[in-house]
Amino acid sequence: MSDLKQYPQALSIAGSDSGGGAGMQADLKTIQERHVFGATVLVAITAQNTIGVQDALPLPETIIDAQFKSLAADLAIKACKTGMLADVTRVRAVVRNLKKYDFGPLTVDPVMVAKGGAPLLSEDAVAVVRDELLPLATLATPNLPEAEKLTGLTIDDEAAMKQAGIALQGLGVKNVIIKGGHLSADQESNDFVLLENGESFWLTSKRVDTIRTHGTGDTLSACITAELAKGANIADAIRTGKDFVEAAIADGIIVGHGHGPLNHWA
Ligand code: PLP
Repeated sequence: MSDLKQYPQALSIAGSDSGGGAGMQADLKTIQERHVFGATVLVAITAQNTIGVQDALPLPETIIDAQFKSLAADLAIKACKTGMLADVTRVRAVVRNLKKYDFGPLTVDPVMVAKGGAPLLSEDAVAVVRDELLPLATLATPNLPEAEKLTGLTIDDEAAMKQAGIALQGLGVKNVIIKGGHLSADQESNDFVLLENGESFWLTSKRVDTIRTHGTGDTLSACITAELAKGANIADAIRTGKDFVEAAIADGIIVGHGHGPLNHWA
């Protein structure tokens, strides 16, 4: 009898971060920490460190299609997520493949701009994410600026966050977590969760005064994806994701000279 272990498998569809703190690298590290096997479809390469994004190269559609095909032919992926998708061509390539293959529940982290200000999604691709990718999503995890761009709403308080959640469901996303970390006056960071069944709740965490926040959104969505691959229900997966990120921010590590990465071992 073999005692080889089987792990659930999850997929990150994203851009790379050569600095190792965000993007696909953060996804894989997080998925591994959650004891799930991580596979990847690389959509773009960035030359990046903790100081900023120095260069980026979107990959040809043919190699994006080929990566999806390779995984579908062999692995048994139970949940997937998207991160940096770069531009209209890449978003459409990902949408096309997600319609073709079943990789389980999809979490869309609608990544638009890096903390240093570098664009990770072209302006004209926002509408394509909204109209073509969001309707495929089991969960979307926008921060406030991303939720504003996707809904056209101004979100400056918690009532507006609720409105945005409803608006996002109107765009076809089943479940939504809106990350309130950008509501600047607050001592707390409050995220609003709205589920498919109409249930809603707030997740509150103490704001940590740190510059070691690089890859926060990637880590949250990757942790949730790993939990969904294990078969967790959506509410539990979101709560686990929030706890994981909170711990990873609270106990940062020193890498580089800028916005350092999270501590995935926390
Ligand atoms: N680089 C890539 C490739 C990403 O996917 C992301 C976030 O999704 C970032 C950078 C953003 O990093 P930060 O947390 O510093 O905004």
